[in-house]
Amino acid sequence: MIDEILQYNQAFVENKGYEKYITSKYPNKKVAIVTCMDTRLTELLPAALGLKNGDAKIIKNAGGIISHPFGSAMRSLLIGIYELDVKEILVIGHTDCGAMYTDSKKMIEKMKAQGITEQSIDMIKYYGINFDAWLSGFMDLDVSVNKTVDMIKKHPLVPEEIKVYGLIIDSVTGELTKIA
Ligand SMILES: [Zn+2]
Repeated sequence: MIDEILQYNQAFVENKGYEKYITSKYPNKKVAIVTCMDTRLTELLPAALGLKNGDAKIIKNAGGIISHPFGSAMRSLLIGIYELDVKEILVIGHTDCGAMYTDSKKMIEKMKAQGITEQSIDMIKYYGINFDAWLSGFMDLDVSVNKTVDMIKKHPLVPEEIKVYGLIIDSVTGELTKIA
C-alpha cells in the first residue's frame, strides 16, 4: 500500500494536483469538529456539511469522543480556540459507529492473541490506567455525544463565548440531526 501511495503522490505533486487545495492554517468558518475516524465519513462529512479545504479544523478519533479533559483531543480544541481563532465547536457522532459496543475484555483477548503479554497488561493497570474504561465503547450514541459536549462546555479552559453543539450524522445519507 505504501508504495502505491508514494507513486501516486509523486504524480500528484508533479501535476500540481494541490493547487485547488491551497488555503491558510486558519479555519475559514471558525469551526472545529470532533468526529469519528470512520472511513465512511472521510469525504461524506465535509460534503454533507458544505465544507471545503480550509473551512474547519477536524479532530478525529474512534467514536468522536473526548475521553479525557486533558488528553490530545481536548488539547487540539484548545489550540484551535487560542491559536487558530475557532469560535464554534461541533461534536458529530454517527449512526452505526464501530466504536459502539466495543468490549474491552474481548480487545484484551485479541491483544494477547497477537503476542501482547499478560505482564504488559498488568504493568499498564499497575500505573493506574483504567483499561476497561479507556477501551470500552459506548452503548448509546446520544449519551456519548452529550457527554463530550458537556465536557467541552464545562472545561475550565474553554471560554464562555465558544458555542458548542452536538449532532448525529447518518453514515449513509449524511443527514444531520442536532441533539444538543
Ligand atoms: Zn464511528
